[in-house]
Amino acid sequence: MRKLIGLVFLSSLFVTCRNPFPAETKVAQHNAEKSAAAPVKQTACTDKQPSTFMDIDVNGLYVREKEFSRKENVEKVFRANKLDKIQYTQFINDSKEYYDFTSIKPRQKYFTITKETDSTTQLQYLVFKISDYEYVIANCTDTSTVPFTSETSVRRGRRHAHITKTEFYHPIQIAYYEKDIDTVQIKFAAVINKSVVKTFRENNLDPKLIERLSASMENKLNINSLRKGDTLQFIYNQLSINGQFLDYGQVKAICVKTKKKQFYSVDYFLNDDSSYQYLDDKGNYLKTAFLKSPLQKGGRIASRYNLHRFHPVLQVEKAHLGTDFAAPTGSPIVATASGVVEAAQFTQNNGNYVKIRHDRTYETQYLHMCRFARGIRNGVRVRKGQVIGYVGMTGLATGPHVCYRFWKRGVQVDPLKEKLNVLKQIPNAHLNSYLAYFKNIKDKLNSISLIN
Ligand SMILES: [Zn+2]
Repeated sequence: MRKLIGLVFLSSLFVTCRNPFPAETKVAQHNAEKSAAAPVKQTACTDKQPSTFMDIDVNGLYVREKEFSRKENVEKVFRANKLDKIQYTQFINDSKEYYDFTSIKPRQKYFTITKETDSTTQLQYLVFKISDYEYVIANCTDTSTVPFTSETSVRRGRRHAHITKTEFYHPIQIAYYEKDIDTVQIKFAAVINKSVVKTFRENNLDPKLIERLSASMENKLNINSLRKGDTLQFIYNQLSINGQFLDYGQVKAICVKTKKKQFYSVDYFLNDDSSYQYLDDKGNYLKTAFLKSPLQKGGRIASRYNLHRFHPVLQVEKAHLGTDFAAPTGSPIVATASGVVEAAQFTQNNGNYVKIRHDRTYETQYLHMCRFARGIRNGVRVRKGQVIGYVGMTGLATGPHVCYRFWKRGVQVDPLKEKLNVLKQIPNAHLNSYLAYFKNIKDKLNSISLIN
């Protein structure tokens, strides 16, 4: 709940002050003199409040909600708030892993947080809303000066000369803020009448969930193919913020009963494998092979795993331990198997990259992204085929591509040559505890009242 304080506070402000949500709110116990002289509209609220906004202490500061107009962009907002070009460049670079701020959309929201006196307005923070629950905070309160060296290439006759220039500037600290997401377990069971889509519509379930259910069975059974008289039971997590639906989360268990057979898929965490797996009623893994390409729409293999490649940027022979798939900037990159994100970060050589652990044996890595997909960061679970980022050329890259790396017990191998010895069944040592868990969840599924 800690992270929500800021928002709770703002909403409590307009309750106590009996005001509609103010476009401009001074979060302070200001004196009458100041508020009379201040050039902005304020709410005359003098109640003592915990004054944080997105974890920022805004005591004595002004918080204003704004919106990008059609003609506005982040650069213009920076200029309007007296931030310089170097600060803008630094902000764009340092915030890349969260959002591409060079392509802001009209009506996207942002907040300015300022310190104000009668005659001066000093920007302290810029807060950009990047999704319903994510924000990027630019902290402009750092007064230290650091050098920034830029290099420009100038033509001198036939040659190009590099001129480096060092300027000093106030660095901007970047922080990522996420509102708390509530997870609620939802249970549903129905006998299909006309079609699955119709059953879902009649019960206010988004047909998008059908795809998720099929994915949780590793697509071994297409939920859409169920016919009249078949039974569908499932338990899934629903994600919400402040009671508002956000998305469907993990499918915990599903059972499909047709005339011929019963089919189960149960989400289970394997401790010593540090992985989640979908298992059937007998403890068999449902998982199948990895996707062949990390690109959603396919692409061209530009360079294969090669221990003796001549590196195009470094101009030396250097082993290429990945497989490069070329595609235009912005093309979606997907997880080639389900797993847990163990890195989503920027490094000099890899650029923005994501690394996923699938089980104790396998990890995959995706390099040079222009940006990550919403919600992709350390510790998050991803489904096979889920978009995790977008093709770019950050880091050491000559053109837009994704360098796909495949790790087997900590060593990089060629995914195109690797014979995947994917386990078929849960290790014997865990079978009994799984079967006990399965019985429990099966009882839960059967206790859901059936919609006919
Ligand atoms: Zn590569």
